[in-house]
Amino acid sequence: MADILIVEPDDELRIAVCAALVQSGHRVHEAARAMGARAAIRRILPDLAVVADDLPDRSSRRCLAEFRDLAPSAPILLLMGTDRSSDEDEQRRLGGVVEVLRKPMERLQRQYRARLTERLAELRSALWAARHAGTGSHEFQNAKSLVHRLRGSAGSFGLPVVSVFASLIEAQLERLQDGAGDGRLTWSLILESLAGAAGHIEPAAPCVPTNNWRSPGLRVLVVDDDPDCRAIVTLVGRAASLDVIETASTGEALAVASREPVDVVLLDLHLGQHDDAFSACAELRRCTGRWDLPIAAFSADTSVENRLAASRAGADVFLAKPIDTDELALTVRRLVDVRNGEPHRVLIVDDDPTSAAALARLLGQQGWLARSLCDASRIFEMLDTFRPDLLLLDVHMPVSGFDICRIVRASPAWRELAIVFVTGSMDRDTLIQCYKVGGDDCMSKPVVPAELRARLTLRLERARVFRQLAHEDPLAGLMTREAFSTAVARRLSEALRHSRPLTVVLLDLDRFKSVNDTHGHLAGDRVLRALGQLLGRAFRVEDFRARWGGEEFVLALYEADAESSAQAVERALEDFRDLVFEGDAGELFCCSFSAGVAQFPDDGDTLNQLMQLADARLYAAKAAGRARVICVDDAVPSSRTSGVLRLRAGLHEPRMALPRSEHPAPLEGSGSPRE
Ligand code: GH3
Ligand code: MG
Ligand code: MG
Repeated sequence: MADILIVEPDDELRIAVCAALVQSGHRVHEAARAMGARAAIRRILPDLAVVADDLPDRSSRRCLAEFRDLAPSAPILLLMGTDRSSDEDEQRRLGGVVEVLRKPMERLQRQYRARLTERLAELRSALWAARHAGTGSHEFQNAKSLVHRLRGSAGSFGLPVVSVFASLIEAQLERLQDGAGDGRLTWSLILESLAGAAGHIEPAAPCVPTNNWRSPGLRVLVVDDDPDCRAIVTLVGRAASLDVIETASTGEALAVASREPVDVVLLDLHLGQHDDAFSACAELRRCTGRWDLPIAAFSADTSVENRLAASRAGADVFLAKPIDTDELALTVRRLVDVRNGEPHRVLIVDDDPTSAAALARLLGQQGWLARSLCDASRIFEMLDTFRPDLLLLDVHMPVSGFDICRIVRASPAWRELAIVFVTGSMDRDTLIQCYKVGGDDCMSKPVVPAELRARLTLRLERARVFRQLAHEDPLAGLMTREAFSTAVARRLSEALRHSRPLTVVLLDLDRFKSVNDTHGHLAGDRVLRALGQLLGRAFRVEDFRARWGGEEFVLALYEADAESSAQAVERALEDFRDLVFEGDAGELFCCSFSAGVAQFPDDGDTLNQLMQLADARLYAAKAAGRARVICVDDAVPSSRTSGVLRLRAGLHEPRMALPRSEHPAPLEGSGSPRE
């Protein structure tokens, strides 16, 4: 009987392997991470180690080396994922690895999927129990750990979308535990995510890499009787990872919308003779039950009358035909972002608890999150914890609403907050005072529900659009540097709390100055926009991407280590190099970028430190010939155990999307090594 140590991060796989070995009469010891393995090695000095090559934090190599040091003669079996064949020789050379086993992914995936419906049902009951027992309960912990396991296992068994839904549920549970957000809404989000997971039990298409670097699509309904236009919209939509449903008439569109979920509608205003697009806006909203269903209308008639008619019919956006594909892509994304983002948050300050509660109820019916505060002296505390989008202030209170408005406006963090007053005595002086102290609007009490909804909706939507504009780079359609920095700072503290890795990737276009000089600035802008779009649809939903400035972009990839991030960025680089651009004179050309990757916590624990290292590695990538991704400083492994090839060499030959004879020449130096 031998003592066998198995070190495998995936619970399901580890348990399956353990069971098989125990059945063959061995003593089996298990560990999910390198740390557990280390303790076990010292304790039992195993006769054989079975070690996965994908331990968290890139610790497989360390684990192998330690085992080698402590038990020099014991054999090691390396358990490899299916997509890592190129690393095999490298791993063998690390010493002591006598055999490399492929993880039996296909069979395990089938078994896993077969049991998934049952697991989801179990999770559902656990979530119900957690909801009734409360956040401090054992039931709540149980639900959390089930979700956590689902997240990990679904990812490793090729069901990335299920894993994303599980991570959404996990995040919502954490919000509940932190006391953030509205409980009822959070639970409905949780149940929706659970339904989402159940809808994605089928595996991802085989071409999708095992890591899910694509975001799940949103559904866009197109209504246009012109097949060419429909084709353009479909192309644009697919490029932006959207699911496009084409229909040729309002009748068809209504049939689709009443049958299946729709996130955005793109509606041609001039359909066939007897088809009235204008009245379709209201009908579409009625049949989907979504009064806020985003609708973009397009028309070749750009007259003021036509725009007015579209707006009166309820269209949110007017687009001119012929369709500008960039504008279309940006519009769809904005519409979806504005409407599908978090619910609006309103803080009500009123010293009369009954009135505050009535307002909160009204706003809650709207699907918004409302909190009421009767003691105005706690205003800043509430602003910081609840972070409202709008402040609804009573005027007559011990500290007057006007005074509160003044001090809120005087605080830099809340200078832009939308503020609306409600007052029992609305006269000209009150109104003047409202605007003088910086209020946005003023309404009289008792409030008429429809009026309150209409006025607040206007303010909230405006505020959201402005916030989005401030947070989004208009050319690349990605986050701005500021928005990125704030978001990553938050993510970093999360990563620290949960001991999860995070990587920062800095990308810079190669020889971009000469792109501008040779092909014109407009062509340069098209390249920037295309890279923005490509980065927007590559990578996972929860990753951040921004235009850092000029021709530099930055990514923050959560729960990813440097190596896998570098691989994902390389894939993006390959896709980018396949794009063919047209210069001012109609000539064709291709571009490339270089990138540097830094990892938290190994390379630093602030964004600043990580950016500095990523920048240094980006510089190294440029010096090494461009069109490559570098994730560590030393290009050559420094010792036997120091790891797989660390310089992720670029794809030296420019790759051709067109037949060779037709392919545009790459720019001098662009995409090929300089030195
Ligand atoms: P390297 O490969 O070493 O990065 O060379 P490079 O030419 O890309 O680097 P350099 O920093 O010399 O040039 C950056 C160029 O990017 C110069 C600037 O005109 C251009 N650029 C920055 N922002 C924009 C923009 O918004 N639009 C366009 N078209 N060009 C831009
Ligand atoms: Mg630069
Ligand atoms: Mg550059």
